[in-house]
Amino acid sequence: MEWIKPVVDGARAAYNQGRTRPLEFRIQQLKALERMLTEKKDQVLEALQKDLQKNKFAVEIFEIVGILNEITVTLNKLPEWTAREYVSKSMTTLMDTVFIHREPLGVVLIIGAWNYPLALVLQPLVGAIAAGNAAVLKPSEVSGNTAQLLADLLPQYLDKELYPVINGAEKEATELLSIQFDHIFFTGSAAIGRVVMEAAAKHLTPVTLELGGKSPCYIDSNCDLDVACRRIAWARYANCGQTCIAPDYILCDKSIQDEVVKKIGSTITEFYGSDPQKSPDYGRIVNQRHFQRIMSLLEGVNVAYGGQNDEGDLYIAPTVVTDVDPDSRIMQEEIFGPLLPIVTVSSVDEAIAFINKRDKALALYVFSHNKKLINRMITETSSGGVTANDCLIHYTLHTLPFGGVGKSGFGAYHGKYSFETFSHRRACVLKSLGMEKVNSIRYAPASDSKEKWTLWLLKK
Ligand code: NAD
Repeated sequence: MEWIKPVVDGARAAYNQGRTRPLEFRIQQLKALERMLTEKKDQVLEALQKDLQKNKFAVEIFEIVGILNEITVTLNKLPEWTAREYVSKSMTTLMDTVFIHREPLGVVLIIGAWNYPLALVLQPLVGAIAAGNAAVLKPSEVSGNTAQLLADLLPQYLDKELYPVINGAEKEATELLSIQFDHIFFTGSAAIGRVVMEAAAKHLTPVTLELGGKSPCYIDSNCDLDVACRRIAWARYANCGQTCIAPDYILCDKSIQDEVVKKIGSTITEFYGSDPQKSPDYGRIVNQRHFQRIMSLLEGVNVAYGGQNDEGDLYIAPTVVTDVDPDSRIMQEEIFGPLLPIVTVSSVDEAIAFINKRDKALALYVFSHNKKLINRMITETSSGGVTANDCLIHYTLHTLPFGGVGKSGFGAYHGKYSFETFSHRRACVLKSLGMEKVNSIRYAPASDSKEKWTLWLLKK
């Protein structure tokens, strides 16, 4: 592991030379990243096909377009974001210049997960570059083809020293975490999130944790079930269920449960045909370990739709599970696979109580014609984000912060929020050396009249 520290030291030395400070440099790097994605798209598609059997459509709409949009927005807005932000002043600073200056944090570490292996590394990288940092990237070893491709391509397009890729698994990650960074941006599981936070604490390094969890989806009986089920099936079964903000389970009244199963079932046929294993649009589980973990969640539950599987092909059919006991294993951990349990509740109050008894999720979904009910869900529960009458969409807007709350993580990114995450807001007051007579009222020796004037000036 001795090779890792010199790479990080190299990034710091390059950063210390001030290379990332000029806006033009950052813009040029972002444009190079954009070029990389356009010129090497075929290689990217091939790597993602090998890692997760994602087809071109899935890679384009779930990974590439998001990164490209992030670059476009950043290029358009960067001059505005980096400009001094002048703020209002107090009586005592009326004659001074008071502003917030966004400065880079320094050398940041970005650790990615495997389910969207390109976007989860490159999207935070856009923010890190924009804010003027050096960034060490650690893609997930589980999506090894994409990780290797990033290590091959990025040095061809970006500054090699400032943005190195370190590939590897736990050992390499542990070595990286022993080194001091100025920020760690981690996407992954809560278990490793804890390891990251503990290691960061030793250096007092701030962290952003983009974690997961069980995102609930409440279907009100007063709702267009056809549309709801199609949108839920799209979000649950895309990428074979391996999406951090996928609806993890459904809460609905028992009276509509059978209809929900039927409609999700017919949507699955509409999307993937009668045998999803043969569909080019349906993905695969990333590896055998996850295959076995997901299959074990089906033990002792009532499979109402799907359930077919083929370990050799890492295939698990889109599956719906009904009348699920809230204490069963499938309700204890994030599923991260193509299983959709339904827990029945008798009212929206019960649904809200159910959600609030559990860890705060990364996303929450609610389907209803009733706007008041949707607003109740928003005000009476908590989650990283919410989409009503659809799924995943809040992720796609650069104007919304994307991140978790509570056990689903903290900190956020996308658009300006990425830039803010990787910047320090430096408070600046520029005074002149004049006006010393006015200042003299704050100096010793104290007097009643000095106190009176100082308090008058300071009071809001
Ligand atoms: P993971 O926690 O197993 O791995 C994430 C990264 O941590 C990988 O790059 C891995 O190599 C690295 N790692 C492994 N051991 C480490 C260690 N000891 N120290 C530091 N880093 C180490 O997660 P995963 O299986 O890749 O991803 C699945 C999880 O990620 C799910 O919980 C999912 O919900 C979550 N996720 C969240 C988001 C989000 O945006 N919030 C996006 C995707 C996935």
